Amino acid sequence: MLQTSAISDVRTRISAIRPAGADVSILSMSCPEIAASARPGNFVNIKVSAADQPLLRRPFCIHNVQSDTIDVMVKNVGRGTSLLCEASCGESLMVLGPLGNSFGVNTGNFDTALLVSGGIGTAPMLFLEKSLAAEGIPFHHLVGGRSRSDLLTTRLSNVSVSTDDGSEGFHGNVVQLLEKHLAEREDGRVKVFACGPNAMLRALARFCHDRAIACELSLESVMGCGVGICYGCMVELTNANGEKESILLCREGPVIDGNRFV
Ligand SMILES: Cc1cc2nc3c(=O)[nH]c(=O)nc-3n(C[C@H](O)[C@H](O)[C@H](O)COP(=O)(O)OP(=O)(O)OC[C@H]3O[C@@H](n4cnc5c(N)ncnc54)[C@H](O)[C@@H]3O)c2cc1C
Repeated sequence: MLQTSAISDVRTRISAIRPAGADVSILSMSCPEIAASARPGNFVNIKVSAADQPLLRRPFCIHNVQSDTIDVMVKNVGRGTSLLCEASCGESLMVLGPLGNSFGVNTGNFDTALLVSGGIGTAPMLFLEKSLAAEGIPFHHLVGGRSRSDLLTTRLSNVSVSTDDGSEGFHGNVVQLLEKHLAEREDGRVKVFACGPNAMLRALARFCHDRAIACELSLESVMGCGVGICYGCMVELTNANGEKESILLCREGPVIDGNRFV
């Protein structure tokens, strides 16, 4: 897990918006400074409106980087995200980033990367896939959702899916799909990279811990400034001695070692 170095606050315009699923849109913005230093797992903090409200920026994983342009994948869950999902091309935004640490693509001895995600947690996985592919590291996505309409697999390669209701792919949750995948495949040493709802990540962290599988999780919390000033994103983890400790997710995360979330 690597920390970000150069952070820029960029005024930019939305250059494209496309729907990606139920209540989900992908926004593209030209941010050359951010695109140049972004790594998979990093996020940006976006002022979603030129108006006073909402005052606080909203954090989003970097979904994709192409040349000078970054994409974010946004699920409409409230005031700020609805402004983004309903915005028009050409609208002006302030984008702060890249923020937080990144997935350890080059850390640890592993043969295959397993990218496990649920719901909007699939947002950082395209950028991660592209980085793994560029390094020549084999990867496989395991993507879960409650139902078919929650699966956000557009543009991903090597994907298996699960749905809680059985409407597509494996009938069950994505941790059960991972168990099935490991039983059926010869992937060699695997490392899990994951993002999704906290309940899913907790179950996944326990699963990997019990089997000594290397695992990195990208966590979410409500977040304010994104740079460690407001102390709004404190989360409680477990340290190597089994003691509880609090971290600021924006500074020390969002990517953590899965053993700290058991
Ligand atoms: C590091 C990080 C990366 C994220 N990446 C993405 C991403 O790539 N795509 C995406 O769609 N969302 C992502 N989120 C979540 C996103 O930031 C929130 O959904 C958003 O801030 C909600 O803003 P709102 O104004 O629409 O919601 P509000 O009107 O403020 O709240 C609506 C509902 O959303 C809940 N909520 C608010 N903030 C969060 C949060 N941080 N996590 C979960 N629930 C929240 C509230 O409790 C409330 O129930 C990320 C969050 C973090 C911390």
